[in-house]
Parts: sequence; structure tokens; C-alpha cells
Amino acid sequence: MKKILIIVLIVVGLLVTTLFVCDLAFDGVFRKECKVIDCSNKSESPSLYCSKHQCNEAGCSGGSTYSYCYDHKCTVRLCDNKKDPGMDCCSEHKCLSAGCNNVTDNPNTYCSEHACKILVCNNPSINPNGYCSTHNCAKLGCTSLIFTRSNYCFTHKCNVPSCINGQDEDNPYCIEHHCLYNGCTERIIDILANYCYSHECQYGTCHNPRDGSKYCYLHE
Ligand SMILES: [Zn+2]
Ligand SMILES: [Zn+2]
Ligand SMILES: [Zn+2]
Ligand SMILES: [Zn+2]
Ligand SMILES: [Zn+2]
Ligand SMILES: [Zn+2]
Ligand SMILES: [Zn+2]
Ligand SMILES: [Zn+2]
Repeated sequence: MKKILIIVLIVVGLLVTTLFVCDLAFDGVFRKECKVIDCSNKSESPSLYCSKHQCNEAGCSGGSTYSYCYDHKCTVRLCDNKKDPGMDCCSEHKCLSAGCNNVTDNPNTYCSEHACKILVCNNPSINPNGYCSTHNCAKLGCTSLIFTRSNYCFTHKCNVPSCINGQDEDNPYCIEHHCLYNGCTERIIDILANYCYSHECQYGTCHNPRDGSKYCYLHE
């Protein structure tokens, strides 16, 4: 009688140890618990995951806390979508630029190479790693950021501090602020003038060009 008791104890001991060591659960057959930490559901053979945590991809025996295993889910951390074929991410996390396969953190945006450098701007950049058409200087070939309220950057806007117009070609001032004398790049005397100090008639409020002397042909 004593012998039988000892054998029973040993068998029960072995059984408990086996269940513990191999992480098996018993419901008629021995099955492993789902590999997801804290999930006590039984795995669905041949998968190591329970039906809830198994990858939704047909034929895949992987699993995760997402709808797809890490091989089949979008690589953006919290995204639950499936990867697009041949891609690292789902269609929502692919850069919107045609032909670019880079992954974006926010859905339906551009990657750092194709997004405007202004963080709050969702427009595509017109130069790689540059600004969008709204934030890029309007001067052809310039890749600088526009000056506040201007369409031009600090280098290409009119040199009159309060003026936001672009410079006239080869001139530090815009068409409204530079002397109208051919080839002159000086600033006009004041907002009513047409010419700079050396090219405007000195007579009172006359805004004609000088004619060889200090005055125009009318005031010589
Ligand atoms: Zn999978
Ligand atoms: Zn995604
Ligand atoms: Zn891109
Ligand atoms: Zn922009
Ligand atoms: Zn510029
Ligand atoms: Zn100007
Ligand atoms: Zn002038
Ligand atoms: Zn005059």
C-alpha cells in the first residue's frame, strides 16, 4: 500500500514538473499556452499562438498582439494594417510621392526626403529635403525658405526692409524701389520719386530724370 502511494506521488510529481517545464496546458490533449505574454489561451496547433493572436495572413502560423505577425504587419509600430506586397509598410504609411517606397510615421504624408521642411506643412517639397512651392523662394534655382509674408527669401527679396516684393533682376531692390535710370541699381529717393539722388531732377517736386545737369530738360 505504501509502495503504491509513493509511485502515485512520483507520477503526479513528474506530471506537474512536465507541465511546468514545457509550459503545457491540458484539456484532453496537452497543448502549449499562446506565446503572447499574459495570454493564457491555448495555442492552435501547428501555430504557437491562440486563435485570437494568430496572424490573419492565410497559411501563416505566426502571431502577435496585432492582427498580423511582425513579418506581415506594417513596420510602423502601432499600425495594425498588413504590409503591402514587396513593401515594409501598409499603403497608408507609404510616402505619397510617386515611386517612393519610404515609410512615413504619419498616415498619408510624405517621407523626410519628399516632405516640406516646415514641420506643420503637409505639402510635398519641390527639391529633395527642401521646401514646398509655398515655402520655397520664388527666385528660380533658389532653395531657401521664404522671408515672412514674402514669396522670396531674405537674399532675394527687395532690400527695403518693409518691402516683401522680389528683387528686380540684377538689382537689390524691387521694381517699385529701384531707380528707373537704365542700369542704375540705387534706391529711389522716396516713395514718390522715380529716380535716385543722382538721377532725379533737383527742382522741387519734379520727378523727371536729370538731363546732363542737376535738372531735367524742363528745369534747366
Ligand atoms: Zn504572419
Ligand atoms: Zn501602416
Ligand atoms: Zn518619399
Ligand atoms: Zn511647405
Ligand atoms: Zn531666394
Ligand atoms: Zn521693394
Ligand atoms: Zn539712379
Ligand atoms: Zn525737373
